[in-house]
Amino acid sequence: MLTITAIPALEDNYIWLLRREHHAVAVDPGEAAPVLDYLRENGLQLDAILCTHRHHDHVDGIEELRGVYNVPVHGRSHPKNPHITHDLQAGDRLRLDMLDIEFDILETPGHLDGHIVFIAPGILLCGDMIFGAGCGRNFEGTPAQLLHSLQRLAALPDDTQVYCAHEYTAYNLPFALACEPNNPDIRRRIAETNRLREEHQPTVPFTIALEKATNPCLRCTSPELIQTLRARGLTDTGELAVFTALRAWRERF
Ligand code: ZN
Ligand code: FE
Repeated sequence: MLTITAIPALEDNYIWLLRREHHAVAVDPGEAAPVLDYLRENGLQLDAILCTHRHHDHVDGIEELRGVYNVPVHGRSHPKNPHITHDLQAGDRLRLDMLDIEFDILETPGHLDGHIVFIAPGILLCGDMIFGAGCGRNFEGTPAQLLHSLQRLAALPDDTQVYCAHEYTAYNLPFALACEPNNPDIRRRIAETNRLREEHQPTVPFTIALEKATNPCLRCTSPELIQTLRARGLTDTGELAVFTALRAWRERF
């Protein structure tokens, strides 16, 4: 059976460890030590590393891990990412025999150029694209690219489990509530998130369905959200204008 475990790293990162029997694959290891500890404690061997994008909190553990386990690093080659050994392009399929899993590779610009996500039935490894009730910042590319990438992920089946790279849900939900004060799903999620965090449990993974119901970045056609932004001066209520205004407000919130 395939299991997916969160290894907390750095401030608020999750390194996802996919494992089947004694085989393991690490996703976005921004730090090596917690991964090495986990592998040792659980008698696992590292077989591969997956990389969504080149930000330091997603790649800084790769070199040290490869000093111990000389494994392939699957990701999108980029001049500023020297760690990738196996280049992936949009539309590629990546088969990992040791896990008996196959990922479709989707290119999702808007956070960083060359950001990719890994998609298998019921599983989305999305790096810094979607966070609980939020999305990654628009460092490279246009807001239109970011919105388009988010829309493609929102189109995945409702029950897809989303494994993002940061624990940001509790931090994002007050903004979601400010956008839609009368959305009962957001209120329910705040209560559930508070319960999980009090128990020191991750709020990740979550489903695409939950994000579509509560994440303002995926709700730019919600009448209440549009009304909130209109009250703040928005005139163009097209989806991209709403998204752009939403992101600008988020930066100041
Ligand atoms: Zn990032
Ligand atoms: Fe990150």
